[in-house]
Amino acid sequence: MQFTQNQDQRLKEIGCSFDPEQDFASENEREQAFKELERNQIEAARAALLKLRESGQAPAVNALAESISAFLRGLGFVEVTTPIMISKVFLERMSIDDSHALNKQVFWLDDKTCLRPMLAPTLYDISKRMLNIYKAPLGVFEIGPCFRKESQGNKHLENFTMVNFVEWGIDEETKTERMAELTKKFMQHIGIDNYSIEKEDSVVYGDTIDVVVDGIELASGAFGPHPLDVNWDYEGTWLGLGAGLERIVMLKDGLDSIQKAARSLGYLGGVSLKLK
Ligand code: ATP
Ligand code: MG
Repeated sequence: MQFTQNQDQRLKEIGCSFDPEQDFASENEREQAFKELERNQIEAARAALLKLRESGQAPAVNALAESISAFLRGLGFVEVTTPIMISKVFLERMSIDDSHALNKQVFWLDDKTCLRPMLAPTLYDISKRMLNIYKAPLGVFEIGPCFRKESQGNKHLENFTMVNFVEWGIDEETKTERMAELTKKFMQHIGIDNYSIEKEDSVVYGDTIDVVVDGIELASGAFGPHPLDVNWDYEGTWLGLGAGLERIVMLKDGLDSIQKAARSLGYLGGVSLKLK
């Protein structure tokens, strides 16, 4: 016999790694094994939570956001903080209209306003004004919350944190190399070197690249000139890369679920708080 559904659930809830297929000769043996796993895990989780308080460390995603921000500013990119609530017009300018697949993932606040599912629209919008002042090539980036309705999985959150950097007015001939160079620096900075760059076909941008780690998409990049640019009154070259911070933490820390890196009421520092 194997662990009961309740036991299985409880062990998962407290973050225990165990063999769910394990076979027991009797109920008694199973009960003993469950109790021991539960006790050990609770002890380990408590120790980790006490250490977290003592060390005064920030939540992983916040620490990562700070470090990526300093890194990109160090490369000369200008950091912006644009609104999280955006207008329907902005989505339409990204070609996400009522008939678009991504439209179903949007959280609407009313019939004209939504929570941003991505950073691109506001980055396009603010950059246009910045380009009147700053000389190209110009690097701009934002780190902040994005929202998408997702059918639950262990790699998707409905409320996640994106970093998106864009470089406007780059050299057309070398834009692929520039993207590779920036991606390499970015990946080096976050401390992940086992990545591959794959060509993808994005619903919003057409030809894009994906940065993939262990079969999981960590970031997507795109290039301009692009057909959408006209909607934003922009003419010229660009490159952009967007990455999910919780995905990065999940991959770096070897978490089995992105929930452990997410905004949460049940976890702190990737450790379950449901220990009672
Ligand atoms: P996926 O195919 O994994 O759903 P996507 O291609 O729809 O991702 P993009 O629009 O390319 O996502 O967003 C850029 C990055 O933001 C992704 O590579 C990923 O790291 C992160 N991301 C996107 N959606 C989510 C989500 N729901 N939860 C957590 N991170 C996400
Ligand atoms: Mg993508």
